[in-house]
Amino acid sequence: MNFSKAKWHAESTDQVLKKLSTSLNGLTLDEAEKRLKIFGTNIISIEKKYTLWRRLINQFHNVLIYVLLIASIITASLQHWIDTGVILGAVFLNALIGFIQEGKAEKAIDALKQMLPPQAHVTRAGKNLRIHANKLVPGDVVLLHSGDKVPADLRLIKSKDLQIQEAILTGESLPVDKSSQAVPEDVALADRFSIAYSGTLVTYGTAIGVVIATGKETEIGRISLMLANVPKLTTPLIRQLAVFSRWLAVAILLFSFAIFLFGVFIRQYPVDEMFIAAVAIAVSAIPEGLPAVMTIILAIGVTRMAKHRAIVRRLPAVETLSSVTVICTDKTGTLTKNELTIQHIITGDHHYSVTGSGYNDNGRILLHHQEVNLDAHNDFLILVKAGILCNDASLYKENESWHLYGNPVDGALLSLGLKAGIDYKDEVNLCHKIDFIPFESTHKFMASLHHDHKGRAYIYVKGAPEIILEMCSHQLKNQQKVFIDRMFWHSQISELAQNGMRVLALAYRPTVAAHTNLLFKDVEKNLIFLGLIGIADPPREEAHHAVSQCQKAGICVKIITGDHKETAFAIGKQIGISSHHILTGENLDALDDVLLAKEVNDVDIYARTTPEHKLRLIKALRQHNHVIAMTGDGVNDAPALKSADIGIAMGLKGTDVAKEAAEIVLADDNFASITQAVKEGRTVYDNLKKLILFLLPNDAGEGLSIFIAILLGYTLPITPLQILWVNLVTAVTLGVALAFEPTEKNIMSRKPRDPHETLLSRFLLWRIIFVSFLFVLVMFGVFAYETKQGATIGLARTSVVNVLVLMEVFYLINCRKIYDSILNREGVLGSSPVLISIGLVIVFQIGFTYLPFMQMIFATKSISIGAWIALFSISFVVFLIIELEKWLMRIISNKK
Ligand code: ATP
Repeated sequence: MNFSKAKWHAESTDQVLKKLSTSLNGLTLDEAEKRLKIFGTNIISIEKKYTLWRRLINQFHNVLIYVLLIASIITASLQHWIDTGVILGAVFLNALIGFIQEGKAEKAIDALKQMLPPQAHVTRAGKNLRIHANKLVPGDVVLLHSGDKVPADLRLIKSKDLQIQEAILTGESLPVDKSSQAVPEDVALADRFSIAYSGTLVTYGTAIGVVIATGKETEIGRISLMLANVPKLTTPLIRQLAVFSRWLAVAILLFSFAIFLFGVFIRQYPVDEMFIAAVAIAVSAIPEGLPAVMTIILAIGVTRMAKHRAIVRRLPAVETLSSVTVICTDKTGTLTKNELTIQHIITGDHHYSVTGSGYNDNGRILLHHQEVNLDAHNDFLILVKAGILCNDASLYKENESWHLYGNPVDGALLSLGLKAGIDYKDEVNLCHKIDFIPFESTHKFMASLHHDHKGRAYIYVKGAPEIILEMCSHQLKNQQKVFIDRMFWHSQISELAQNGMRVLALAYRPTVAAHTNLLFKDVEKNLIFLGLIGIADPPREEAHHAVSQCQKAGICVKIITGDHKETAFAIGKQIGISSHHILTGENLDALDDVLLAKEVNDVDIYARTTPEHKLRLIKALRQHNHVIAMTGDGVNDAPALKSADIGIAMGLKGTDVAKEAAEIVLADDNFASITQAVKEGRTVYDNLKKLILFLLPNDAGEGLSIFIAILLGYTLPITPLQILWVNLVTAVTLGVALAFEPTEKNIMSRKPRDPHETLLSRFLLWRIIFVSFLFVLVMFGVFAYETKQGATIGLARTSVVNVLVLMEVFYLINCRKIYDSILNREGVLGSSPVLISIGLVIVFQIGFTYLPFMQMIFATKSISIGAWIALFSISFVVFLIIELEKWLMRIISNKK
């Protein structure tokens, strides 16, 4: 089978089906399996090797490495071979650590992608199925709905108002109309209107298409656009820090050069010694461990979020989450379970109730608590038939229970039919669907046109009751067509909605058999109202707790729903969102932007909205400097998702278009997952702060000690090579442990972070300076004491390095909490990564002090047990002093 040469766009639909040996019933399961073996899976593989090399080379593209490489050339030319060896060793070690860590982070991001596998709706062996898009083969019949991403190259066979956005392929961002009409053979790609290309987005309408190419054979596969999508492991904050550290590096280099000149000309140190000292200042002061560990913190954050079913598509969202002040959420499926069960049916004659749950057929229809003989209840039967025919879903039985394919409201109606003993397949065969208007949240109804075998034609409509009532002039009563009693219906709608029910209305009208094309104007008026349906959609159990957690965390939760205002109010009340007044879509239209901005902070429930209203609400909330998270699922939600600070799409019921526009996708559609994501976002930010708090005093302390020694003409208390060791080996090993710090207990009782707050707040700066001075003081103190006691310089320096590392070890524990005390069991022993990294560093230090080759490289000397005890005690005192500072700071901030 070789289909790749065919000019599919120019062939007739019959020819296409024939050539691909398929039909509208789709391939058989066996044939699909066979073709999968021949054509392979429908994926475009990414050239990984290319990025691997780039990643490795990128590690060397860094100011610190340049400084070190130049230093190694100079030391080599001065024939200081040990120095050259150590510096080059440090260069490679640094690059290797960066390479491995970035690799791990990239893997974490790749894993996220696999959590959102692309899906396709296909017809195989006459059945509609949802399958993994990578299983598609040429000849498969694919159903497209508005919001879908086209899963392979398709030749359209049937279409209804189909519009596709092909920007990914042609650069054109306006959607183009597509149809099944063949086009001339030699037209350009952008004009092949009979083809839907893989990766493009359906923005309107529906279609059926047959797969003509998969994987690498698709147009998108040929140009291998996927290469451009290599994930970038960065966020605005990391970029800011990168710019900051570049400036810092330049400043440090200039400063080191000044010190070099000062040392050589004023203090008359030997040139080669001064050169190495200047390099040491540069190396110690540039925070080189920072970017690699920050990336790891982000990667761990997104992995933890994914565990809580929030999948991050764009990394900056992780950071923004910590400053979210408003979450605007949909109701259906996010706050509620979206397991819709019809419980009430109200016709012009009776009020029926229905038992049972889920999509199963075991439920009963009751009237005044008694089961009814439905044959005598035409009012009921005609309403149910309307619901079954004006429907886009199907149900299938698996393991003794019924499952849904399609929209849950439609599914609930099919299951009502099963309970009433009406099989929807028989009904559809008796009364063919000729045309339809699909449901969209903007117009809030669905309509379909049917012809039966006796030459009769009907239009059925279902949707939001206020909209349907507007379309109707009559209703049925005792099987007669009478004028509609609007008052009665409004009171019934209100009663159902007050009980938290989702309300749906149904209507119909006979039409002529010549009517084959259904238009909006056909359903605008003169319909006959059939009745109401009350659908229970209870809140999720966890929603109440999640909402109250957000409220405690200073985050306001607002419901923005397409549903009725009383339904929204009832559900809101059950989960702890009460709004003394509610704005409906109509109210919003009546308010101008200024008035809306005034109201927006006080109103927490918005009902009967369309997706366009979400955009206006974002604009209004921005005026109050809110940082906004907004949920959405439909095609029309995409602009709002893009415009919010964090767009959150639904993984289960969301369209591909919404997912593409969002920063975060909720795998379980659950509001509680947003709360978890906020918690993780705050943790990531906390851990970034902790890391900076840990690394900067080390760098500043070492740099300062050399600087002061040169300035005052003292012997250096630590050699440049020893500084390289401390900085590139022990500080990084310890710092990585902070990436794994768990969430602090009080994290959700703090206010959201001010998005303009700098990472290096005044408080952090103070702590960094304070600790740097403590470190410098101890280093000089130990050095002076040792030399006074008659120790050689080598021995004194070994003690200085060891006390510095021990202080780092204790300070790592201090940094586990920025403000709170660490003097408790959890504080000291609570993190195994911290304990493991401390264990590793102690082993390194013993090797550094006692191994002969280490002694040779770093000029270290063996020190006694007594000295260890003394150094340990000094570091412990520094640890306690820092805890004392925290305690004082807590008292001061409580008094403010
Ligand atoms: P949310 O925005 O919180 O998810 P929602 O899902 O209720 O709320 P929409 O999907 O826009 O919002 O639905 C609005 C109204 O349209 C519903 O209250 C219902 O009356 C009607 N409706 C929903 N689904 C269908 C459908 N498949 N066919 C016809 N009408 C529907």
